[in-house]
Amino acid sequence: MTLTPVRGRFAPTPSGLMHIGNMRTALIAWLQVRSAGGQFVLRMEDIDKPRCRPELAEQALADLKWLGLDWDEGPDIGGPFPSYVQSERESLYRDALDKLEQEGRLYPCFCTRAELLMVASAPHGLNSEGPVYPGTCRLLSNEQREERSRDKTPSLRMASPGHDICFQDLAAGPQRFPADAVSDFVVKRADGIISYQLAVTIDDAAMRITDVLRGYDLLDSTPRQLLLYEALGLPAPRFTHIPLLMGQDGKRLAKRHGGMAIAAMRANGVHAEHLVGWIAAHSGLIDKPEPVRPHDLIQEFNLDRIPKDPVTVTDLMLQSLLG
Ligand code: GLU
Repeated sequence: MTLTPVRGRFAPTPSGLMHIGNMRTALIAWLQVRSAGGQFVLRMEDIDKPRCRPELAEQALADLKWLGLDWDEGPDIGGPFPSYVQSERESLYRDALDKLEQEGRLYPCFCTRAELLMVASAPHGLNSEGPVYPGTCRLLSNEQREERSRDKTPSLRMASPGHDICFQDLAAGPQRFPADAVSDFVVKRADGIISYQLAVTIDDAAMRITDVLRGYDLLDSTPRQLLLYEALGLPAPRFTHIPLLMGQDGKRLAKRHGGMAIAAMRANGVHAEHLVGWIAAHSGLIDKPEPVRPHDLIQEFNLDRIPKDPVTVTDLMLQSLLG
Protein backbone atom coordinates (compact mmCIF):
# COMPACT_ATOMS: atom_id res chain seq x y z
CA MET A 1 0.00 0.00 0.00
CA THR A 2 1.41 3.41 -0.95
CA LEU A 3 1.01 6.09 1.65
CA THR A 4 -0.55 9.35 0.45
CA PRO A 5 1.03 12.70 1.41
CA VAL A 6 -1.91 13.47 3.70
CA ARG A 7 -2.96 10.97 6.38
CA GLY A 8 -5.46 11.78 9.07
CA ARG A 9 -7.26 9.79 11.70
CA PHE A 10 -10.18 9.61 14.08
CA ALA A 11 -9.41 8.00 17.41
CA PRO A 12 -12.47 7.43 19.61
CA THR A 13 -12.26 6.20 23.19
CA PRO A 14 -14.87 3.45 23.65
CA SER A 15 -15.80 4.48 27.18
CA GLY A 16 -19.19 5.87 26.22
CA LEU A 17 -21.59 6.02 23.31
CA MET A 18 -20.72 8.22 20.34
CA HIS A 19 -22.60 11.51 20.43
CA ILE A 20 -23.14 14.45 18.08
CA GLY A 21 -19.88 16.11 19.19
CA ASN A 22 -17.70 13.05 18.37
CA MET A 23 -19.52 12.53 15.08
CA ARG A 24 -18.88 16.12 14.09
CA THR A 25 -15.15 15.77 14.84
CA ALA A 26 -15.04 12.50 12.89
CA LEU A 27 -16.86 14.03 9.92
CA ILE A 28 -14.61 17.11 9.77
CA ALA A 29 -11.40 15.07 10.22
CA TRP A 30 -12.61 12.78 7.41
CA LEU A 31 -13.42 15.76 5.16
CA GLN A 32 -10.03 17.34 5.80
CA VAL A 33 -8.34 14.14 4.63
CA ARG A 34 -10.67 13.22 1.76
CA SER A 35 -10.63 16.75 0.32
CA ALA A 36 -6.84 16.43 0.12
CA GLY A 37 -7.07 12.98 -1.51
CA GLY A 38 -5.54 11.47 1.61
CA GLN A 39 -5.93 8.30 3.65
CA PHE A 40 -8.12 8.10 6.72
CA VAL A 41 -7.23 5.89 9.68
CA LEU A 42 -9.53 4.73 12.44
CA ARG A 43 -7.90 3.85 15.75
CA MET A 44 -9.62 2.61 18.88
CA GLU A 45 -8.15 4.31 21.95
CA ASP A 46 -8.95 1.77 24.63
CA ILE A 47 -5.68 2.10 26.53
CA ASP A 48 -7.57 2.88 29.74
CA LYS A 49 -9.07 -0.64 29.73
CA PRO A 50 -11.10 -0.42 32.93
CA ARG A 51 -13.04 2.52 31.45
CA CYS A 52 -13.58 0.98 28.01
CA ARG A 53 -15.94 -1.71 26.71
CA PRO A 54 -15.59 -3.80 23.52
CA GLU A 55 -19.27 -3.43 22.70
CA LEU A 56 -18.87 0.35 22.71
CA ALA A 57 -15.99 0.00 20.25
CA GLU A 58 -18.26 -2.07 17.99
CA GLN A 59 -21.03 0.47 18.34
CA ALA A 60 -18.64 3.33 17.46
CA LEU A 61 -17.63 1.59 14.21
CA ALA A 62 -21.27 0.92 13.36
CA ASP A 63 -22.25 4.56 14.07
CA LEU A 64 -19.44 5.94 11.91
CA LYS A 65 -20.36 3.64 9.02
CA TRP A 66 -24.00 4.55 9.41
CA LEU A 67 -23.06 8.23 9.09
CA GLY A 68 -21.44 7.43 5.74
CA LEU A 69 -17.76 7.61 6.69
CA ASP A 70 -15.19 5.12 5.48
CA TRP A 71 -11.56 4.47 6.34
CA ASP A 72 -8.53 2.97 4.66
CA GLU A 73 -7.12 1.36 7.79
CA GLY A 74 -8.81 0.43 11.02
CA PRO A 75 -9.58 -2.23 13.63
CA ASP A 76 -12.04 -4.03 11.34
CA ILE A 77 -9.93 -3.99 8.15
CA GLY A 78 -6.33 -3.84 9.37
CA GLY A 79 -3.65 -1.98 7.44
CA PRO A 80 0.11 -1.53 7.23
CA PHE A 81 0.56 -0.37 10.86
CA PRO A 82 -1.33 -2.87 13.02
CA SER A 83 -2.85 -3.09 15.50
CA TYR A 84 -5.46 -0.34 15.22
CA VAL A 85 -6.54 -1.02 18.79
CA GLN A 86 -4.39 0.65 21.45
CA SER A 87 -4.68 -2.11 24.02
CA GLU A 88 -2.86 -4.36 21.53
CA ARG A 89 0.03 -1.92 21.07
CA GLU A 90 1.47 -1.96 24.60
CA SER A 91 4.89 -3.21 23.49
CA LEU A 92 5.39 -0.08 21.38
CA TYR A 93 4.64 2.12 24.35
CA ARG A 94 7.02 0.13 26.58
CA ASP A 95 9.79 0.59 23.97
CA ALA A 96 9.21 4.34 23.98
CA LEU A 97 9.25 4.40 27.78
CA ASP A 98 12.56 2.50 27.75
CA LYS A 99 14.03 5.00 25.32
CA LEU A 100 12.90 7.98 27.39
CA GLU A 101 14.16 6.28 30.54
CA GLN A 102 17.59 5.61 29.03
CA GLU A 103 17.83 9.26 28.07
CA GLY A 104 17.07 10.28 31.64
CA ARG A 105 13.81 11.99 30.69
CA LEU A 106 11.59 10.10 33.17
CA TYR A 107 11.38 10.00 36.93
CA PRO A 108 9.16 8.14 39.37
CA CYS A 109 6.52 10.21 41.15
CA PHE A 110 5.17 9.05 44.50
CA CYS A 111 2.72 11.90 45.07
CA THR A 112 -0.75 10.80 46.05
CA ARG A 113 -3.90 12.25 44.54
CA ALA A 114 -4.50 14.14 47.80
CA GLU A 115 -1.01 15.66 47.68
CA LEU A 116 -1.55 16.72 44.10
CA LEU A 117 -4.87 18.32 45.00
CA MET A 118 -3.21 20.26 47.81
CA VAL A 119 -1.17 22.16 45.27
CA ALA A 120 -4.37 23.00 43.43
CA SER A 121 -4.32 26.52 44.85
CA ALA A 122 -1.10 27.15 42.94
CA PRO A 123 -1.52 28.87 39.56
CA HIS A 124 -3.15 26.55 37.09
CA GLY A 125 -1.28 25.02 34.24
CA LEU A 126 -2.88 23.24 31.35
CA ASN A 127 -6.51 22.48 32.10
CA SER A 128 -6.69 18.90 31.01
CA GLU A 129 -3.83 17.87 33.28
CA GLY A 130 -4.96 19.79 36.39
CA PRO A 131 -2.67 22.09 38.35
CA VAL A 132 1.00 22.57 37.47
CA TYR A 133 3.02 19.75 39.01
CA PRO A 134 5.56 21.46 41.27
CA GLY A 135 8.24 18.85 40.57
CA THR A 136 8.21 17.48 44.13
CA CYS A 137 9.60 14.06 43.14
CA ARG A 138 11.97 15.28 40.46
CA LEU A 139 14.84 15.89 42.84
CA LEU A 140 14.55 12.80 45.05
CA SER A 141 17.81 10.91 45.52
CA ASN A 142 18.09 7.28 44.47
CA GLU A 143 17.94 6.27 48.15
CA GLN A 144 14.75 8.26 48.67
CA ARG A 145 13.24 6.67 45.55
CA GLU A 146 14.08 3.20 46.75
CA GLU A 147 12.70 3.88 50.18
CA ARG A 148 9.46 5.35 48.89
CA SER A 149 8.90 2.57 46.39
CA ARG A 150 8.65 0.14 49.29
CA ASP A 151 5.29 1.72 50.23
CA LYS A 152 3.95 2.88 46.92
CA THR A 153 4.19 2.04 43.23
CA PRO A 154 5.11 5.29 41.53
CA SER A 155 3.76 6.81 38.35
CA LEU A 156 6.33 7.89 35.76
CA ARG A 157 6.63 11.51 34.78
CA MET A 158 8.31 13.06 31.82
CA ALA A 159 10.62 15.88 32.91
CA SER A 160 9.74 18.84 30.72
CA PRO A 161 12.78 20.60 29.31
CA GLY A 162 11.78 24.05 30.53
CA HIS A 163 11.30 25.86 27.25
CA ASP A 164 8.19 27.40 25.76
CA ILE A 165 6.29 25.31 23.23
CA CYS A 166 5.04 27.03 20.09
CA PHE A 167 3.09 25.64 17.20
CA GLN A 168 0.84 26.76 14.41
CA ASP A 169 -2.69 25.40 14.71
CA LEU A 170 -4.54 25.27 11.40
CA ALA A 171 -7.81 26.35 13.05
CA ALA A 172 -6.81 28.06 16.30
CA GLY A 173 -3.82 29.97 14.87
CA PRO A 174 -0.38 30.46 16.43
CA GLN A 175 0.01 28.94 19.89
CA ARG A 176 2.56 29.58 22.63
CA PHE A 177 2.57 27.60 25.87
CA PRO A 178 4.99 28.96 28.47
CA ALA A 179 7.44 26.43 29.94
CA ASP A 180 6.03 26.75 33.46
CA ALA A 181 2.49 25.89 32.35
CA VAL A 182 3.42 22.60 30.68
CA SER A 183 5.10 21.08 33.79
CA ASP A 184 6.20 17.46 34.21
CA PHE A 185 3.39 15.15 33.07
CA VAL A 186 2.52 11.52 33.67
CA VAL A 187 3.42 9.03 30.94
CA LYS A 188 2.63 5.88 32.94
CA ARG A 189 0.17 5.85 35.78
CA ALA A 190 0.82 4.16 39.11
CA ASP A 191 -1.66 1.44 38.11
CA GLY A 192 0.52 0.66 35.10
CA ILE A 193 -1.76 2.25 32.49
CA ILE A 194 0.07 4.17 29.78
CA SER A 195 -1.09 7.78 29.56
CA TYR A 196 -3.11 9.10 26.65
CA GLN A 197 -0.30 11.57 25.88
CA LEU A 198 2.28 8.87 25.30
CA ALA A 199 0.03 6.39 23.50
CA VAL A 200 -1.41 8.95 21.09
CA THR A 201 2.03 10.31 20.20
CA ILE A 202 3.53 6.91 19.53
CA ASP A 203 0.51 5.83 17.50
CA ASP A 204 0.24 8.97 15.38
CA ALA A 205 3.95 8.76 14.61
CA ALA A 206 3.95 5.00 13.92
CA MET A 207 0.86 5.29 11.70
CA ARG A 208 2.52 8.15 9.75
CA ILE A 209 -0.30 10.55 10.53
CA THR A 210 0.37 13.95 8.96
CA ASP A 211 -2.76 15.74 10.19
CA VAL A 212 -4.40 15.53 13.59
CA LEU A 213 -7.82 17.19 13.69
CA ARG A 214 -9.70 17.05 16.99
CA GLY A 215 -11.76 19.14 19.40
CA TYR A 216 -10.49 22.31 21.04
CA ASP A 217 -10.62 20.59 24.43
CA LEU A 218 -7.42 18.75 23.44
CA LEU A 219 -5.51 21.86 22.35
CA ASP A 220 -3.58 21.96 25.61
CA SER A 221 -2.54 18.33 25.30
CA THR A 222 -0.61 19.23 22.17
CA PRO A 223 2.41 20.87 23.89
CA ARG A 224 2.97 17.67 25.87
CA GLN A 225 2.71 15.58 22.74
CA LEU A 226 5.14 17.92 20.99
CA LEU A 227 7.59 17.42 23.87
CA LEU A 228 7.32 13.68 23.35
CA TYR A 229 7.86 13.97 19.59
CA GLU A 230 10.92 16.08 20.33
CA ALA A 231 12.33 13.74 22.98
CA LEU A 232 11.78 10.66 20.82
CA GLY A 233 13.15 12.28 17.66
CA LEU A 234 9.86 11.77 15.80
CA PRO A 235 8.39 14.15 13.19
CA ALA A 236 5.27 15.91 14.52
CA PRO A 237 2.04 16.15 12.48
CA ARG A 238 0.12 19.35 11.75
CA PHE A 239 -2.58 20.08 14.34
CA THR A 240 -6.09 21.44 13.88
CA HIS A 241 -8.27 21.98 16.95
CA ILE A 242 -11.83 22.90 16.06
CA PRO A 243 -14.17 24.84 18.36
CA LEU A 244 -16.61 22.60 20.21
CA LEU A 245 -20.37 22.35 20.21
CA MET A 246 -21.68 23.67 23.53
CA GLY A 247 -24.95 23.14 25.38
CA GLN A 248 -27.05 26.13 26.42
CA ASP A 249 -25.48 25.90 29.88
CA GLY A 250 -22.12 26.84 28.36
CA LYS A 251 -20.71 23.35 28.90
CA ARG A 252 -19.40 21.04 26.23
CA LEU A 253 -22.27 19.25 24.52
CA ALA A 254 -22.72 15.91 26.24
CA LYS A 255 -25.25 13.26 26.93
CA ARG A 256 -26.80 15.24 29.77
CA HIS A 257 -28.11 17.68 27.16
CA GLY A 258 -30.46 14.91 26.04
CA GLY A 259 -30.93 12.94 22.86
CA MET A 260 -27.25 13.10 21.99
CA ALA A 261 -26.23 9.48 21.64
CA ILE A 262 -26.08 8.44 18.00
CA ALA A 263 -27.39 4.97 18.86
CA ALA A 264 -30.53 6.57 20.35
CA MET A 265 -30.98 8.82 17.33
CA ARG A 266 -30.74 5.84 15.03
CA ALA A 267 -33.27 3.97 17.12
CA ASN A 268 -35.59 7.00 16.89
CA GLY A 269 -35.43 6.95 13.11
CA VAL A 270 -33.14 9.94 12.50
CA HIS A 271 -31.62 9.60 9.01
CA ALA A 272 -27.85 9.77 8.62
CA GLU A 273 -28.14 12.37 5.84
CA HIS A 274 -30.28 14.53 8.07
CA LEU A 275 -27.63 14.42 10.82
CA VAL A 276 -24.77 15.09 8.38
CA GLY A 277 -26.66 18.10 6.99
CA TRP A 278 -27.38 19.37 10.48
CA ILE A 279 -23.73 19.05 11.54
CA ALA A 280 -22.50 20.61 8.30
CA ALA A 281 -24.84 23.58 8.56
CA HIS A 282 -23.92 24.24 12.19
CA SER A 283 -20.24 23.94 11.33
CA GLY A 284 -20.36 26.51 8.53
CA LEU A 285 -19.91 23.93 5.77
CA ILE A 286 -23.29 24.43 4.08
CA ASP A 287 -25.67 27.37 4.27
CA LYS A 288 -28.73 25.65 5.67
CA PRO A 289 -29.50 22.22 7.13
CA GLU A 290 -30.56 19.93 4.31
CA PRO A 291 -29.93 16.20 3.90
CA VAL A 292 -26.48 15.48 2.48
CA ARG A 293 -24.02 12.60 2.42
CA PRO A 294 -20.46 13.08 3.67
CA HIS A 295 -19.20 12.56 0.10
CA ASP A 296 -21.29 15.52 -1.10
CA LEU A 297 -19.29 17.81 1.19
CA ILE A 298 -15.79 16.88 0.00
CA GLN A 299 -15.54 19.17 -2.99
CA GLU A 300 -16.47 22.37 -1.19
CA PHE A 301 -14.75 21.57 2.10
CA ASN A 302 -12.76 24.48 3.46
CA LEU A 303 -11.45 24.63 7.01
CA ASP A 304 -11.79 28.43 7.00
CA ARG A 305 -15.58 28.11 6.96
CA ILE A 306 -15.66 26.46 10.38
CA PRO A 307 -16.68 29.02 13.03
CA LYS A 308 -13.79 30.35 15.11
CA ASP A 309 -15.83 30.24 18.33
CA PRO A 310 -17.73 27.42 20.03
CA VAL A 311 -21.21 26.86 18.62
CA THR A 312 -24.05 26.88 21.17
CA VAL A 313 -26.65 24.25 20.40
CA THR A 314 -30.07 25.47 21.47
CA ASP A 315 -33.10 23.31 22.25
CA LEU A 316 -34.66 24.57 19.04
CA MET A 317 -31.67 23.43 17.02
CA LEU A 318 -31.88 20.02 18.67
CA GLN A 319 -35.61 19.75 18.02
CA SER A 320 -35.00 20.36 14.33
CA LEU A 321 -32.66 17.39 14.38
CA LEU A 322 -34.65 15.00 16.51
CA GLY A 323 -37.98 15.92 14.92
N1 GLU B 1 -9.30 9.34 22.19
C1 GLU B 1 -9.47 10.75 22.37
C2 GLU B 1 -10.90 11.05 22.68
O1 GLU B 1 -11.78 10.27 22.34
C3 GLU B 1 -9.08 11.56 21.17
C4 GLU B 1 -7.64 11.61 21.00
C5 GLU B 1 -7.13 12.49 19.91
O2 GLU B 1 -7.85 12.78 18.96
O3 GLU B 1 -5.97 12.86 20.03
O4 GLU B 1 -11.16 12.09 23.25
